[in-house]
Amino acid sequence: MSLIVQKYGGTSVGSAERIKNVARRIAKWSRAGHKVAVVVSAMSGETNRLIDLAKEIQPAPDPRELDVVAATGEQVTIGLLSMGLKAIGVKARSYTGAQVRVLTDSAFTKARILSIDAGKLHADLDSGHVVVVAGFQGEDEHRNITTLGRGGSDTSAVALAAALKADECLIYTDVDGVYTTDPRIVPEARRLRTITFEEMLEMASLGSKVLQIRSVEFAGKYRVRLRVLSSLTDPEMPLELEAASGTLITFEEDTNMEEAAISGIAFTRDEAKITLSSVPDRPGIAYQILGPIADANIDVDMIIQNTGVHGLTDFSFTVHRNEYAKAMDVLNDKVKSHIGATSVVGDAKICKVSVVGIGMRSHVGIASIMFRTLAEEGINIQMISTSEIKISCIVEDKYMELAVRALHKAFGLEQAPSR
Ligand code: ASP
Ligand code: MG
Repeated sequence: MSLIVQKYGGTSVGSAERIKNVARRIAKWSRAGHKVAVVVSAMSGETNRLIDLAKEIQPAPDPRELDVVAATGEQVTIGLLSMGLKAIGVKARSYTGAQVRVLTDSAFTKARILSIDAGKLHADLDSGHVVVVAGFQGEDEHRNITTLGRGGSDTSAVALAAALKADECLIYTDVDGVYTTDPRIVPEARRLRTITFEEMLEMASLGSKVLQIRSVEFAGKYRVRLRVLSSLTDPEMPLELEAASGTLITFEEDTNMEEAAISGIAFTRDEAKITLSSVPDRPGIAYQILGPIADANIDVDMIIQNTGVHGLTDFSFTVHRNEYAKAMDVLNDKVKSHIGATSVVGDAKICKVSVVGIGMRSHVGIASIMFRTLAEEGINIQMISTSEIKISCIVEDKYMELAVRALHKAFGLEQAPSR
């Protein structure tokens, strides 16, 4: 017998029929003797609907009241799912975040979990109940309702698993695991049986949207065993098969690093590049350019500065595309003439393609395979950045799909042994 946390996203509880299926799946685990705590999202589309409704009343909704409204979506699904369980003879009890006491800070719409009171839930689990907890929400020390940011139920589930000291946290979703890359771009993409936390963090932050990134950080920190698996399979499928399906996110020391050098290819169109031309090559220039950018609260990702010729150099960096216009304004207003740059040129038609794998630590030559592959496709690399387990290149965005496909092939990801 084990204690399992299961999380079901919006699509998985998107209709009465689907909620009944989720209940049947949970019943199977509960009847097999497992203690089951469930975290649910709102029905798909519901949180968007609630936020839009709020904006019709107040265009920039008051954050405290917005959380009061947005948190209702999950209150509906915990009630419905608990009814669905009772209807098939499973003892169940629903809890809002506040009823559990999921204590958060007071940063409305993006609150962070501080603690979870597991006592009541343990008592219910011990007496054979399934507990159904609302994801995405908590309350602050003044008993204000708070929400955790979009996609926050993943983090609720992982935090609950940590608080309950669960054996595993199963994230049921509309995809059947984590893939080597997006199967919509590369049909040969393969589901990974395991991926390490570090790799998952890179994949998540580089644009693979399977899990909310904070939930992955949380799981790494509290050492929660996390599995991503499909909620669209037959709910009566044998429990042993289901328990081993999907992708397990592992700790590096449990992994055989000798196998594949690369685990996946991530990509994002979310960035824009900015170049200041002919800036003086002298101490303090990077600070004079990026200081005002940081003061405007804009995050910088990649940075390139060449060695100067005749005392002049070009300076390029990337920012999130949403902050591109703001960054251009800051540079034109506060930086350009001040440092004597001849021009500030922006380019939003770029994308970032990255290869990710902890195997890079023990394999050499990964970067050269990447560069050769892009060269063979005639794709110009505009910027490069590396970390111990990742190499990213900025290329023109019209080449994104070509680059991803070519790299997936070059690293043999369609056939690599699944670790
Ligand atoms: N319902 C919330 C959202 O749509 C939380 C979640 O689904 O994880 O963002
Ligand atoms: Mg989600």
